[in-house]
Amino acid sequence: SNSPPPPVERLRPVDLFIAVKSTGRYHRPRLELLLDTWISRNTQQTYVFTDGEDEKLRKRMGAHLINTNCSAAHSRQALSCKMALEYDAFLNSGKKWFCHVDDDNYLNVGPLLELLSRYGHTQDVYIGRPSLERPIEATETLDTNEMRQVRFWFATGGAGFCLSRGLALKMKPWASDGAFMTTAERIRLPDDCTVGYIVEALLGVSLTRSALFHSHLENLGLVSDVQNQVTLSYGTVENSRNAVNVKGPFSIRDDPTRFRSVHCLLYPDTSWCPSLW
Ligand code: UDP
Ligand code: MN
Repeated sequence: SNSPPPPVERLRPVDLFIAVKSTGRYHRPRLELLLDTWISRNTQQTYVFTDGEDEKLRKRMGAHLINTNCSAAHSRQALSCKMALEYDAFLNSGKKWFCHVDDDNYLNVGPLLELLSRYGHTQDVYIGRPSLERPIEATETLDTNEMRQVRFWFATGGAGFCLSRGLALKMKPWASDGAFMTTAERIRLPDDCTVGYIVEALLGVSLTRSALFHSHLENLGLVSDVQNQVTLSYGTVENSRNAVNVKGPFSIRDDPTRFRSVHCLLYPDTSWCPSLW
């Protein structure tokens, strides 16, 4: 049959550096849900990169809340400012794998470790879900101010993605100590596209596709085997609900994102999960 290859490296949660991107106005509506659910089981390896101080969150997370001082605007510059700091913090952490998620993602660390353990962290690995069906076409501005067309794949940030340390080290000239923002400006694309540009177009390393990462760009109602996916998400457009289908302890009204229900399926011993349902 189609059994996965055996692991090449035993991985533990401490081998991960998990970066969650957030912004001030999403602390209450989004982050608290994550802190109550998957982050509560992964506090040691998870860092939230946001753009404003928050006393209540600071009390809850301590040094794991990182105030980037990046602008709170949804601009290309503001978003790549956060990604740049996530990347630098990962390099400084010495961990084996960097994984980025948005604040509307549920990250299931068990399946993530299982997936990453099939690769070596010293290999060149960039893994996630491509957001488009074909490579993106961009115009890069060269040092000579000449323009050139480039085509490359990138993993959509809204589904989460991971980079091995081996690859992250090779990205340094275009990503570390502020270089990431300059690189993002060179192709005038968002942060997740810029990662793909550095990896695929500049380093010649291919994106490894995984169907286990999910963003709200897809119809989440169609995701099966929800408990074994690496990431989940939910749609925030008011009039069309987009969420995974799980039978769990909470109604859709009480748990519209389904994240609390998923969490209780994965960790039934959680204090706020009903014991009989
Ligand atoms: N975000 C941010 N600054 C902003 C708006 C959004 O850092 O001004 C973050 C947000 O916290 C989330 C990600 O960017 O982690 C994507 O935001 P959202 O889900 O609102 O938009 P999408 O691109 O998924 O439609
Ligand atoms: Mn989103």
